Amino acid sequence: MNLFYKNLTIWLIIGLTAILVLNLFKGEPETVNALTYSDFVAKVKNGVVTNFTLHKNIATWKDSNGERFRSVIPENPASIQQFIDAGAKVEIVPSREPHWFLRIFLSWFPIFILVAIWFFFFRKGSNKGGGKAMAFGKSKAQLVDAQESKVRFKDVAGIDEAKEELVEIVDFLKDPTKFTEAGARIPTGVLLYGEPGTGKTLLAKAIAGEAGVTFYSISGSNFVEMYVGIGASRVRDLFAEGKKKAPCIIFIDEIDAVGRHRSSGAAGGNDEREQTLNQLLVEMDGFEVNDNVIIVAATNRLDILDQALLRPGRFDRQVLVPLPDVLGREQILKVHAEKIRTATDIDWNIVAKSTPGFSGAELANMINEAALMVARQGGDVNMNDLEAAKDKVMMGAERRSMIITVEEKRITAYHEVGHALVAWMLPGADPVHKVTIVPRGKALGLTMQLPETEKHSHSYSYLFNNLCILLGGRIAEELIFDEITTGSGNDIERVSDLARKMVCEWGMSKNIGPIVFKASDQPGASTPLVSDASIEKINSEIRDLIDTAHDTARKILSDNMEIMEAITLDLLEKETISNQDIQAIIDQPRG
Ligand code: ADP
Ligand code: ZN
Repeated sequence: MNLFYKNLTIWLIIGLTAILVLNLFKGEPETVNALTYSDFVAKVKNGVVTNFTLHKNIATWKDSNGERFRSVIPENPASIQQFIDAGAKVEIVPSREPHWFLRIFLSWFPIFILVAIWFFFFRKGSNKGGGKAMAFGKSKAQLVDAQESKVRFKDVAGIDEAKEELVEIVDFLKDPTKFTEAGARIPTGVLLYGEPGTGKTLLAKAIAGEAGVTFYSISGSNFVEMYVGIGASRVRDLFAEGKKKAPCIIFIDEIDAVGRHRSSGAAGGNDEREQTLNQLLVEMDGFEVNDNVIIVAATNRLDILDQALLRPGRFDRQVLVPLPDVLGREQILKVHAEKIRTATDIDWNIVAKSTPGFSGAELANMINEAALMVARQGGDVNMNDLEAAKDKVMMGAERRSMIITVEEKRITAYHEVGHALVAWMLPGADPVHKVTIVPRGKALGLTMQLPETEKHSHSYSYLFNNLCILLGGRIAEELIFDEITTGSGNDIERVSDLARKMVCEWGMSKNIGPIVFKASDQPGASTPLVSDASIEKINSEIRDLIDTAHDTARKILSDNMEIMEAITLDLLEKETISNQDIQAIIDQPRG
């Protein structure tokens, strides 16, 4: 049912109730003085009261001042007769019985309300084929989205290997008999895993689109609700519905919300989630190949999934959906660029090269931002627009309206140049792409580096360089000003985090060696495996690492104070400087 009608009905009920309640309390508008029967009789007999109105057994009248009185009298004709005998005018008004319709309505009203409530909460959403709905209270109508997917494989770019693994599924959905006759077992569960925005949802939709089957989607987090048992029953209904609508694709996004390893997580675990997960396992086991329903799930946390989910017969086909490489990015950019107007001279390869680490979603977003920027002025998207859009996606929107004092701006400028100069001087560090003191997002300024080539793993010296670069900001502040600011909070957090990982996870400390200390090994976690002495050693290793990096960065900056001053001046003037600007300053001859 439409949300509008639902609301309308609810307001109608509220309105009706209000009217009824008002009706019930209506009457007795003015204050009335009550009189005893005997006083009343006396008054009539004395001629004080000459006429009155009788309604059932209640007599009302007004005195000469217009004040109203009433009195209860016995309900028999004889008592009325005595007043008439005394010469009073008696007007008998018919008793105001509520209309028969209202009476019936009144007595049935509570039941009606109950039925209405029941109706809304348990029977919502009829099952009009293929539409938006799936029985309500079953899989929660609005959350399960059934659609004919318009996405095709050609819309998914740059992840060819993942696509190849899924072509088979499409073939199966198109012509299941071919497979069943050959006795081949097609996986009923496919797990797509990879970073957010890499196109997992898009791929699932493409499977449905290519095969021309209905696409059901629900998010794992929707299964896990406050009410015990709801999740499990939702899973049951979802699968029942899927079987009815076969062939179809059921897409479960964020499956880690339900499928997290069962005994992991802190104290007690979560019964509701476990029940839901168990139901999911049971349902998947109950699947037959000829049900023609394929469950596609997505997660970016394969590592925390319960192993039971990955067993044969369940999600036994696991497909990695990786971040795209240069070529992949170029293809994705082109797919999305088709939807907008672009200048002819765009070299997509250069754009792709300048966006390492971008996910498909970020690339799509970038193209869209560029189109939005251009839409305001008219014209085609060119390289500059793409560059601006990239900055926006990478660093957040500029906040030029933010009011910054001159002093704050100076501190920020030195801070950023501190990062940039350390990065510039360290061999092997990612080249500095851009430095800005225009606030973006939460940051007052930013130094952006771009790797020359794609890196899939990092060397010790690369990570050590990063520590130095991160520390460079604060050190520059220390060298120039008497005070230090909170501006380095985020840098320091990242330094600590990186150094800890280097020591505890990547075995990069000589004194400790290749031993992993996970967070759960630390005291306070359920099973500490580390002695206090080890912890002390770990901490002193982390400390040493950071101190060495600090000294390295400090030396670079204090040896190059003159250059630092020159770059900072330039930055303060231009607010954003590029690689070339810095190069020009460094190349200047100085005495
Ligand atoms: P995920 O489910 O992996 O988090 P999505 O599939 O929701 O990511 O991707 C979000 C959007 O990003 C898509 O709708 C699409 O516009 C774009 N996108 C992501 N990956 C790709 C890709 N490989 N090719 C084309 N567009 C992509
Ligand atoms: Zn910083």
